[in-house]
Amino acid sequence: MPAAIDSGQESGLLVDSFGRVARDLRISITDRCNFRCTYCMPREGMEFVPRSELLSYEEIVRLAHLFVGGLGIESIRLTGGEPTVRRDLHRLISMLAELQTPGGEPIELSLTTNGSSLSRQAELLAQAGLHRVNVSLDSLRADRFAAITRRDALADVLAGIDAAVAAGLHPVKVNAVVVRGENEDEIVDFAHYGRDRGVQVRFIEFMPLDAAGGWSLDKVVPAEEIVSRIAEVFPLEPLEHGAEPASRYRYLDGAGEIGVIPSVTKPFCGDCDRVRLTAEGQFLTCLFAVDDLDLRSPMRRGESDAFLAGIIRQSVGAKWAGHRIGRVDFVRPRRSMSQIGG
Ligand code: SAM
Ligand code: SF4
Repeated sequence: MPAAIDSGQESGLLVDSFGRVARDLRISITDRCNFRCTYCMPREGMEFVPRSELLSYEEIVRLAHLFVGGLGIESIRLTGGEPTVRRDLHRLISMLAELQTPGGEPIELSLTTNGSSLSRQAELLAQAGLHRVNVSLDSLRADRFAAITRRDALADVLAGIDAAVAAGLHPVKVNAVVVRGENEDEIVDFAHYGRDRGVQVRFIEFMPLDAAGGWSLDKVVPAEEIVSRIAEVFPLEPLEHGAEPASRYRYLDGAGEIGVIPSVTKPFCGDCDRVRLTAEGQFLTCLFAVDDLDLRSPMRRGESDAFLAGIIRQSVGAKWAGHRIGRVDFVRPRRSMSQIGG
């Protein structure tokens, strides 16, 4: 029977009506952050979820256990807000690191962070069982970094990236959101940086998920333009593309690779294998989903794993074909990036 009409009930997988199978779960563990990146959060006035409404570590682990043990999830990425601002993150990591797929395989466990506390935490998190990190960095110039993040923390983030490499959180990926007129002149500098440090830089197209609502199509630097600017200096060849959002390119001289995430100009919705859980326990089948499924309330009123698995399957079954950024019928989700978990 083709996967497209397998409801997932028999296979234990999360299959949608287009035959896509969810394998990767992004869990936001907080909507709070110690930065205020212009493309994500407003300078002031962000309203945060009250702590009592956040999932506890034990609740997160219960759901993660269900997703991995009964619903086919093989990799978990923790994100936020800024996940490292939540207390004792290593405790959550060590609980999640014990999860195994029904076939007895460990899951792949990674973290997306702004890197500001990695120089203190990288070793501890690696020891707790974290496999990999993605660190966000949008400028290599201290004044511009401070203007974008509204925090003077470039040195901390650079030290954090080095600490992640030293702790063996390989491959360390550095995420740069490229915004027209703001940091596009640093694309080649980032390529130099990645080659020098042995980290994979991934350039992300600016998406309409900024809390300030300042996004417009002319601020998006297309992935194709990013690749050609780098290839003029360091020749590149494309690598095979899997389910991951990044299109990867290898330097022909063997000095590593880069990735570009063309969410706006070439959406990869057809290959999407991701689902998401917000910090307050809402399940989303897409970063741009306008509907969500509350898992916290049924969990707190004592519903069984079988009940939760049933409503999750139903929600995935109804997953849409994809978002429509840049089209007239695009509907912006009510949550911004830090509230969803990027
Ligand atoms: N605080 C962590 C960080 O910055 O890496 C994790 C959460 S952050 C929301 C996750 C990713 O989303 C980061 O790589 C960030 O650069 C990216 N991001 C945030 N707002 C974005 C936007 N409007 N368009 C594209 N990427 C965005
Ligand atoms: Fe914080 Fe990450 Fe959003 Fe920047 S991108 S404000 S670091 S959540």
